[in-house]
Amino acid sequence: MRVARVSGRLSLLVGNGAVDVHAASDGRFPADPDAVFDQWDELREWAGARGNHGAEPYSRDQLGAPVLNPKQVFAIGLNYRDHAAESGVAVPSAPAVFTKFATCLTGPYDTVQLPSDKVDWEVELVVVIGRRAWQVSEESAWSHVAGLTVGQDLSERAVQLVGPVPQFSLGKSYPGFGPIGPAIVTSDELADPDDLSLICALDEELLQKGRTRDMVFSVSELIARLSAVCPLLPGDVIFTGTPPGVGMARTPARYLTGDTTLVSAIDGIGELRNPLIAK
Ligand code: ZN
Repeated sequence: MRVARVSGRLSLLVGNGAVDVHAASDGRFPADPDAVFDQWDELREWAGARGNHGAEPYSRDQLGAPVLNPKQVFAIGLNYRDHAAESGVAVPSAPAVFTKFATCLTGPYDTVQLPSDKVDWEVELVVVIGRRAWQVSEESAWSHVAGLTVGQDLSERAVQLVGPVPQFSLGKSYPGFGPIGPAIVTSDELADPDDLSLICALDEELLQKGRTRDMVFSVSELIARLSAVCPLLPGDVIFTGTPPGVGMARTPARYLTGDTTLVSAIDGIGELRNPLIAK
């Protein structure tokens, strides 16, 4: 199942079209994509039973962030060994956790204004929680996941690294700094949800390429470790960290510029294409 926000409304993506869930279900499910997570299992059952009929064409400009109002946004730093190495720090022995404040979330094709000339790219797998998870084991972790989506953890490095200690959360939360989408994809749609290929490109130039099997802490390990402290709630999102190839780690350092398009893609899930404009 692929669940998206089309013209602001909860929709299933089927084939090349979209089904408006509230209308097609005669009001059984809400029109608001943020309000469906308590009925996620029911939605899966309904979507599976109804098949592909009744899908209407849509354009990608109609797609918004599949989740816009999560109660919590978790993000994980340094979750790929080669990214920790390029950042000059040791591989973490526990997840390095911060938040991206929810106002930074934006749609998969939305334009992002760069607030400075120090904005960096980080393509990431994003987990959307479907069922409350409190002190869950790694073994049961996946059963708390609604699905997966693509995310960009855009990062303003000057604010992030201003002293005396790093400001991960603030520097990564300017408006537009959290593009996600194009849809929440359930794990049964993926051959191996723990081994997905992800890339980041600027226009046609490949900047990052990795596989999620190289994460230091897997999706299930992250859910177990985060839920050991905080209950994870339906609709919460987790940015799971970025593979190597970010701009800050290059010599010389490189950052995003305007009049370009940032592409972030994960095999089997889809892609984000965010036009960037300079301040
Ligand atoms: Zn990140």
